[in-house]
Amino acid sequence: MPPQAIIAKLVQRIPLTEDVYELQFRLIKPKKIAFIGGQFVTIKVEDGNPKLFFRSYSIMSPPSQNNIITTCIKLVPTGRATPWLTTVEEGTDMSMMGPLGKFVFHESKEKSSLFVATGTGITPLRCMLEDQLEKGNATNMHLIWGFRFEKDIFYTEELDKLHVKYPNFTYTVTVSRPSEEWKGSHGRVTDWLKENVKTPAQTQVYICGVGDMVTDTATLCEEIGIAREDVHFEKYA
Ligand SMILES: Cc1cc2nc3c(=O)[nH]c(=O)nc-3n(C[C@H](O)[C@H](O)[C@H](O)COP(=O)(O)OP(=O)(O)OC[C@H]3O[C@@H](n4cnc5c(N)ncnc54)[C@H](O)[C@@H]3O)c2cc1C
Repeated sequence: MPPQAIIAKLVQRIPLTEDVYELQFRLIKPKKIAFIGGQFVTIKVEDGNPKLFFRSYSIMSPPSQNNIITTCIKLVPTGRATPWLTTVEEGTDMSMMGPLGKFVFHESKEKSSLFVATGTGITPLRCMLEDQLEKGNATNMHLIWGFRFEKDIFYTEELDKLHVKYPNFTYTVTVSRPSEEWKGSHGRVTDWLKENVKTPAQTQVYICGVGDMVTDTATLCEEIGIAREDVHFEKYA
């Protein structure tokens, strides 16, 4: 599907934590789009600054919902796009381009899939996961999702529902700086991978997040025996 110009209305912005928001767009033109789970759109930032400016955002809603686009963004207070996206009025029409990107799921009947995210890196992974599960992919899929603090965690209710509906999907939230009350997994996603990947030759992995976490995780996956061609990633910055 070649990328195309899109006009979409921001219908709802839902705060998920103190600095993470879900944005829901309804497509105006075209009315529907076809895309592959994991792809992204670039949004034109029309914040009054005459300098043309675009930022990329992964699509979180699955391809089956072809008349909407949802994404999940983290406010970077010193940035240009996110201060605008987190305050612009609901009802605003935005210009976008998409779908773009090659970070997509590779179907395999033999291999289980690991999805590794930190923070808003969940966005394309949730789309891939829901797409595969809706299509009846019955292989084991596990999401390992890292946060610094418990206050940063979101979407656990949605993931719990997904697990109940599709038991082959499981997930672990791991917190690198937990409080004493935290009963879940401690440490970084890489710590979890070192301890828990038991069959690397039968595992493919999809990694998304910001900066070094992505490259560090991709390197570790190869070190623990996952084949290079089974390590897929999208780096946000
Ligand atoms: C293919 C692709 C898909 C992307 N999808 C998403 C998405 O779905 N959700 C999303 O929030 N961002 C996503 N990003 C990042 C996004 O494009 C912007 O970079 C981000 O929103 C910050 O934009 P800004 O102009 O406000 O700040 P900038 O001035 O561009 O960013 C300043 C710094 O903020 C940090 N930063 C950037 N993104 C994040 C983040 N998500 N979490 C924490 N720190 C960050 C980086 O260190 C960056 O250098 C994606 C990037 C790419 C390349």
